[in-house]
Amino acid sequence: MNNEDVLADVEKHANAIIRVCSGYQPAYGLLVIRPDFSCLNPVHATLDSAFDTPPTAELGTYILGRLPAELKLMVLRELDILSFFRFRHVSRRARELSTGLWEYNLVAKHGREGLRGLLRAGLAHRFTICDLYQPLITEKCSTCDAFGGLLFLLTAERCCFTCLQSKAHYHVISPRIYAMLSVIHPARLNRKSIPSLRTVSGRYTLTTTPVNPPKRLILAEHATQALLAAKVIKEDVIQVLRSQGDEQRQRYMATTLYPWYNLKNARPEYGAGCRGCQPPRGLYLDDQAFSARGFLSHFSQCAEAQRLWAESEGGTGPLGKPECARPYSFHSFFFSNWLAI
Ligand SMILES: [Zn+2]
Ligand SMILES: [Zn+2]
Repeated sequence: MNNEDVLADVEKHANAIIRVCSGYQPAYGLLVIRPDFSCLNPVHATLDSAFDTPPTAELGTYILGRLPAELKLMVLRELDILSFFRFRHVSRRARELSTGLWEYNLVAKHGREGLRGLLRAGLAHRFTICDLYQPLITEKCSTCDAFGGLLFLLTAERCCFTCLQSKAHYHVISPRIYAMLSVIHPARLNRKSIPSLRTVSGRYTLTTTPVNPPKRLILAEHATQALLAAKVIKEDVIQVLRSQGDEQRQRYMATTLYPWYNLKNARPEYGAGCRGCQPPRGLYLDDQAFSARGFLSHFSQCAEAQRLWAESEGGTGPLGKPECARPYSFHSFFFSNWLAI
């Protein structure tokens, strides 16, 4: 196919191209904290709706009850997530008001992994609903230009798997090891109130040997900044930490899958790989995930995806097999969120 034909096809058959040429979920989804929908579904209805019975009481006769609705919503946007949920439990009126907050409603519907991740990690008091809303409506990784299918819980940033693995910014470490490497007493670290993440059990590996996570993890950058500012450590600690490296799997323990919500077509996307580029059988961690928009741009340069498209006769014929086909049997729940732009 020449370039003009490809661009014409992308314009005319965008949905069909995505259906034929993309689809499998890159393997990194198996490594990070994974959403358990069987756990989330029973509470889903209570998260994004108010009670059927209308409220009979106001929010009180003092300041909050007297504020106009817009100002009440502004106050709610400033609450940390833990306080937000406590407020939501106060009364039917409070629940009705908080359900009406657009940012909360979207996060409760499509960003539940983020809410659950922060609550379980003991970090919910450090972030507001808007801190989760912003990455939810942002397609790209916060440190590069690629699609980011993950949420890094210690900073509530969207990131891609490549950056999560390689950037020093995502270096996490157990407080005990940090104290040992920087030669300070662990109590001095605790006194600095550095955000720490409570880990949850999981595999965090593609091998059969499960990993025992440390109880807590901190971001090395947070600890270094706080201790340098307090003159507890010297700059040379940064070098020590760098030379020591970190355990990659601990980064996965601080990260969860997080869909991107496309405001233009009101659809969540988890990202999917290109069937033309998919590697030989087996799980490979360097698979790249694309948003629907990003995939169409990739398609115009991927000869193998174009070949699959040509073989499918405009999406009407049988799907062609990629050169190195592998079955995609896991995470089938992602596909329902993917097939349209
Ligand atoms: Zn990135
Ligand atoms: Zn490709």
